[in-house]
Amino acid sequence: MRTPQDIECWLTDMDGVLVHENQAIPGAAELIGRWVDTSRRFLVLTNNSIFTPRDLAARLSWSGLAVPEENIWTSALATAQFLANQAPGGRAFVIGEAGLTTALHEAGFILTDSEPDYVVLGETRTYSFEAITSAIRLIMGGAKFIATNPDVTGPSPQGVLPATGSVAALISKATGRQPYIVGKPNPMMFRSAMNRIEAHSETTAMIGDRMDTDIIAGMEAGLLTVLVLSGITRRDDINTFPFRPNRIYDDVEALLQDL
Ligand SMILES: [Mg+2]
Repeated sequence: MRTPQDIECWLTDMDGVLVHENQAIPGAAELIGRWVDTSRRFLVLTNNSIFTPRDLAARLSWSGLAVPEENIWTSALATAQFLANQAPGGRAFVIGEAGLTTALHEAGFILTDSEPDYVVLGETRTYSFEAITSAIRLIMGGAKFIATNPDVTGPSPQGVLPATGSVAALISKATGRQPYIVGKPNPMMFRSAMNRIEAHSETTAMIGDRMDTDIIAGMEAGLLTVLVLSGITRRDDINTFPFRPNRIYDDVEALLQDL
C-alpha cells in the first residue's frame, strides 16, 4: 500500500486546495516551500484556461504563494500539447483568452478562421455571438471540436458565471457535435502533466478538493489520491461516491504533518 512518504512527484489542484477566493489556505505556502526546498517535482493544476502560467504565478504570489510559473499546468497547456501531438503545425480557430492563444501559438499552431483543423473553445469573459457563429459554421464545415474544460459555471464575487461547458453545450446543440474535452476529469490532463515533469504514476500523488474531478481522474490515472476538505467536499459527502480517495485530510497543513 502506497503512502504519502513514498511519493516522489506531486500534482495538486489550485482552488480549494491552495487558495480560496484569492486567500491562501493554511499550510499551502509551507507545502509549496517544502517542495521547492527539497527539489520535489510538482505541478499546480487548473482547469481555468484564461490565464498563462506567468499570470497565474503572479496571482498566486499576491495570495502569498510563491509558485514558479514552470510549476503551473493549465487545461490550455494540456490542450495545446494534445493538439500538437495530434496534428503538428495545424490550424485552429480559437475562442479564448491569452492563456489558450499563447499556449497554442507556442505549440506551433496557426490561429485562423480560414479552414482550421480544429475549433478550440476555452474560458473567456467576452463571448461574442459572432465568434460563436463562426465556430458553429466551421464545425459544420468539418473542423474538429475541442474544449479545454467541462466546467459549466465558474465563481465570481457577484455569483456564478457561465463557463466553457455551457458555451460548448450551445455549440453542440447547434451542430449536433460533442467536443473532446481535455481538462479534468479527463485523465489526459494528468498524463500530460506527468510527462512534463517526467513523473511515473506509481510514485505520483494528486491532491484535490473534488471527488468528481480531482479524485476520480487521479484514481483513473493510477495515482495516489489525496482529498482535502478545505474546498467543496464535506466529510459526509465522501460516502455518496462509489469510489474513495487513498487519503483524506482537513487541509494541506494536515497533509504536511504526514510528509
Ligand atoms: Mg478545486
